[in-house]
Amino acid sequence: MGLVIYCNGAFVPEEEAKVSVFDHGFLYGDGIFEGIRAYYGRVFKLDEHLKRLYESAKSIQLNIGISKDEMQEIVLETLRKNGLKDAYIRLVVSRGKGDLGLDPAKCARAAIFCIADQIKIFEPKMYEQGLEVKTVAIRRNNPDSLSPRIKSLNYLNNILAKMEANQAGVVEGIMLNQEGYVAEGTSDNIFIYREGVLITPPLSAGILEGITRDSVLQIAKKLGIEAREELFTRHDLYTSDECFLTGTAAELIPVIKVDGREIGDGVPREVYKQLLAAFRDLTRVNGP
Ligand code: PMP
Repeated sequence: MGLVIYCNGAFVPEEEAKVSVFDHGFLYGDGIFEGIRAYYGRVFKLDEHLKRLYESAKSIQLNIGISKDEMQEIVLETLRKNGLKDAYIRLVVSRGKGDLGLDPAKCARAAIFCIADQIKIFEPKMYEQGLEVKTVAIRRNNPDSLSPRIKSLNYLNNILAKMEANQAGVVEGIMLNQEGYVAEGTSDNIFIYREGVLITPPLSAGILEGITRDSVLQIAKKLGIEAREELFTRHDLYTSDECFLTGTAAELIPVIKVDGREIGDGVPREVYKQLLAAFRDLTRVNGP
């Protein structure tokens, strides 16, 4: 059975959820989105996701046209209509239908879609074995051109990085920023544990303000693990004791090899395991 999609004011079967070819999200990547997750019927950090969505909209002067409360109801109703308790939710707001020119003023109304589907989780063995990744040649786009803090529909920078990693035979690519410091993965933030300190690049490195990243920083504080938002280099990454990536879909996923260098002993270690267990506890509020 197909999904029920929220599409511009109505819940419709997926075959009827259509976008105009004149939609500027399609023509120009002019729009924003969120990737959200529900666990045991409860949407995880929904307020934080809506905050980021509305901040992205403000930054690109996109009038969403409905309130955060209304948007929250759309997300919850999409879950209900699909009878989903554990789900991946994709909320998309594009500039809407315009003409073939760039001018967003020609787009009368934002287009809003909400899709909720079964979550496709990484295989459990990946959390035990860890991933091999590589730093890619393509740099994270310059924040002066397009701030990576805007979760925009323009993901070409990330897609090219992902392709580069995949073509080199690894599953994920790590992007450096314009200055050569480590920035983030193609759809995840990065952490290292080095000399007893948990380190993740600061927002000023030119990264998405990841909601899982924020959860991990808060958990570390609670657990008494020293954590810093600090620039680090590839050398710091290669010589770290632990490394992991964070994102809504992946949660916390360990990295055991970067550019051919083993991280620590090449197996996921204690700090990662501790943080993952605490993160999973947070998501299990309504769970078993
Ligand atoms: N960086 C990028 C570029 C992303 O696309 C994502 C996924 N949204 C993340 C980091 C992780 O963010 P979050 O924890 O909010 O999913």
